[in-house]
Amino acid sequence: MSSTPTHRVFNFGAGPAVLPEPVLEAAQRDLLALPGVGMSVLEISHRSATFDRILEQAEADLRTLAGVPDDYHVLFLQGGASQQFAMVPMNLLGPDGVADYTLTGKWAKKAASEAAKFGRVNICATTEDEAFTRVPAPDGLRLTPGSAYVHVTSNNTIVGTQWPVMPEVGTTPLVVDASSDLLCRPIDVARHGLIYGGAQKNLGPAGVTLAIVRKDLAQRGPDTLPTTLRYAVAAAHGSRYNTPPVFAIYLCGLVMRWLLDAGGLRAMETRNRRKAGLLYDAIDRSGFYRGTAQPGSRSLMNVTFRLPTEELDRRFGTQAAEAGLAGLKGHRSVGGQRASIYNAFPDAGVATLVEFMAEFERVHG
Ligand SMILES: *Cc1c(COP(=O)(O)O)cnc(C)c1O
Repeated sequence: MSSTPTHRVFNFGAGPAVLPEPVLEAAQRDLLALPGVGMSVLEISHRSATFDRILEQAEADLRTLAGVPDDYHVLFLQGGASQQFAMVPMNLLGPDGVADYTLTGKWAKKAASEAAKFGRVNICATTEDEAFTRVPAPDGLRLTPGSAYVHVTSNNTIVGTQWPVMPEVGTTPLVVDASSDLLCRPIDVARHGLIYGGAQKNLGPAGVTLAIVRKDLAQRGPDTLPTTLRYAVAAAHGSRYNTPPVFAIYLCGLVMRWLLDAGGLRAMETRNRRKAGLLYDAIDRSGFYRGTAQPGSRSLMNVTFRLPTEELDRRFGTQAAEAGLAGLKGHRSVGGQRASIYNAFPDAGVATLVEFMAEFERVHG
């Protein structure tokens, strides 16, 4: 292996995505031996006092960052957000219940079709006839009286839309897939029943799934469920019913610490608005680039746009990659470009992309 310093490109990939450099450096520094432990976090028991501290600190920092109230569990689970698509209805939707789902993109549809395996699903709002280029009006949901929960995808990673505010759902538990925007801005956890997300976009590496669940809801899953698929079991065992993904949890803990050091979620929102604003301004200024998402629904995390022709889209992607701007190719179902600019994505990368866009338009426009 070479000892030359690694040159890091700007990584606009949608996930697994860019991590904060100080986090990677800390993980690298402590990989051979955690200070005072003499072993890597990869080599120690998940029942050791050291790992207890790592997990407890990650949870405590998350509680501070997001203001998680005491009547909520913080759980570190496995199986990704996709497993939550099943765990949510398995635990929360009784055999005679109905769950309301908002359809705002490909992930939301997957969540709804998984739930339909376990009970009745009512589509309470959809923007599919507009190719999911916006989210529904927050007060425009056709809710089922007495439904078990309302499911919302807060940020639609593929098309690049985000709910500007969470919809009003009264006393029905609000269940949110926040895989691609959790901790991008302050959040009122008490308005939610359950918030979940795979870590690999905005929270850490792949392999761990975060769930913040109201304690009474966590108890709802019947004990006939598979043991590892019950929130109540994960909660009772401090996310360690079986061996958890220790390294992924450790790295999430480092990300939480980085977020606190960076000023918390209000500072993150300011930064994210500044980064996204630069890109959307560049799109709106030009007649060359066209934004995919409708302005009122634009995502702070995934900025999607296209060029006048598919040929230009291809060239743009190739030349951008040569210029050190990686991972801009849009999802295969949507095409065009997607700049994923999660919390850890640096300002300098956005500025470089904006310059690249102006130069590309000058040459090809
Ligand atoms: C990436 C993503 C998922 C899928 O996550 P996995 O952890 O791969 O299962 C689900 N929902 C949203 C909004 C996503 O962005």
